[in-house]
Amino acid sequence: WGGLKEIKPLFKSFATDAIHVGSEPEQWNSRAVVPPISLSTTFKQHGPGKHAGFEYSRSGNPTRSCLERAVAALDGAQYCLALASGLAATLTITHLFKAGDGILCMNDVYGGTNRYFRKIAAEVGFDVSFADLTKLELLKAALKPNTKMVWIETPTNPTMKVVDIKGCADIVHEHNKDIIVVVDNTFMSAYFQRPLALGADICMHSATKYMNGHSDVVMGLISLNRDDIYERLKFLQNALGAVPSPFDCYMCNRGLKTLHVRMKQHFKNAMAVAQFLEADPRVDKVIFPGLPSHPQHELTKRQCTGCPGMITFYIKGKLEHASTFLSSLKLFALAESLGGYESLAEHPAIMTHASVSENERKELGISDTLIRLSVGLEDEEDIIADLDQALAAAVSISVDLNI
Ligand SMILES: *Cc1c(COP(=O)(O)O)cnc(C)c1O
Repeated sequence: WGGLKEIKPLFKSFATDAIHVGSEPEQWNSRAVVPPISLSTTFKQHGPGKHAGFEYSRSGNPTRSCLERAVAALDGAQYCLALASGLAATLTITHLFKAGDGILCMNDVYGGTNRYFRKIAAEVGFDVSFADLTKLELLKAALKPNTKMVWIETPTNPTMKVVDIKGCADIVHEHNKDIIVVVDNTFMSAYFQRPLALGADICMHSATKYMNGHSDVVMGLISLNRDDIYERLKFLQNALGAVPSPFDCYMCNRGLKTLHVRMKQHFKNAMAVAQFLEADPRVDKVIFPGLPSHPQHELTKRQCTGCPGMITFYIKGKLEHASTFLSSLKLFALAESLGGYESLAEHPAIMTHASVSENERKELGISDTLIRLSVGLEDEEDIIADLDQALAAAVSISVDLNI
C-alpha cells in the first residue's frame, strides 16, 4: 500500500451497515434512533411459554440483539453471538467439542489463548497441539484423525505473522470438511478482514480491542454462517452463561458506528510510524504487514483491505534500552491491550506474553528488545515526535549499544 488512497472499499456498504443494521428505529414503539439499554433481566409473557422474543436476559436481551445483528452484517455473516470477553468466546467455541478431541492451534497466538489451550483445555482432556500455520505444508502434517478444530490468529500477536486463511481453510476442509476452522480476527477487525468469505467456519473477535475501539468494554464476538454450529453455540451462550451486560452491548454497538472511520485513520497513522521506525538507525527491525519489507506483505494485500495500528519492532541494544524507551514515552501509555483511540506501547516478554514459557518466547522471537505499539488516532506528528524522543532517551543510557 502506498498510503490511504489505496485502501480498497472492498466490503460493500460497510459504513451504512455499521450505522443502520440492528439499530432500526421501527423496532421500538418509541421509534428511538439510538437503541435503548434494556436492563430488565426478565420479560413478561402473554401466557406460559408465549413470549415476545425475550424471556430471560442471559438467554436473550434486546440491546445485545441489536449489537449481534450489527456485527453479523459487518462480518458478512448470518449470525453473531456476543460473549462476556474474547476468552469467553474462545471457551464457548471450545465447548463445541469434548475431551479427546484434537485442537490444532497456530503456534503464535494471544497469550491468554495460549494459556487457555495449554493450561485448561489440555488439562481437561483435549488433545491440544501447535504448529506454525504460516507454512501450509506443516498444517497438512499436523492434522490428526481426531482433529476437530483448527485455530488461526492472523496477524499473530505480537510477531505479526500473517496466515493464509483461504489456503488453510482449503487444506483443512479437503482433509475433513467437518473440522471447524476458527479465525481470531481481533487485530484486523471486520473492516480489514472477512475470514468467513475466505473459507473459515467461525470468525471470532476480542471486541475489547478495535471493534469497540474505546478501551472501555471487555467483550467477545463470534460470527458464523452455519445453522447447525450456530444453534449449538446459542445453546452454549445461554448454558455456559458467559454473556455481556446490556450496558457493554450498548457501548460496543456505539463503538461500531465509527469502526470504518477509526480503522482508516489507524492505518494511516501506523503506516507513517512504520516508515519512520524502519528508516531509523536506532531501530533494528520493524514488523508491519503494510510495509513491503514484511515477508507476507503480498498475502496481506490479497487477504486484507488494510492494516490496523499494530506495529512490532526490535529496538537496538538490550533489555535496558527497551525499558528506557518505554519509560520515556509521554504520549504513548505504557499499558497492555490495544485497538483503542489512544496510543499504547508495551513489552510483550514482560507484560502480555509473560504466561508464554521462556523457551517458546525464544522460538517465536519475543525477545527482550521487542516492543509492541498500538498506534492510536492522535496527530501523526505528535505520535512520531514521542517515539523519536523516547528513542533518543534509550540511546543515551550508558549500556554499550554498538551502533
Ligand atoms: C485481547 C485478545 C484476546 C482475548 O480477549 P479478551 O477480551 O481480553 O478476553 C484474544 N485474542 C486476541 C488477538 C486479543 O488481542
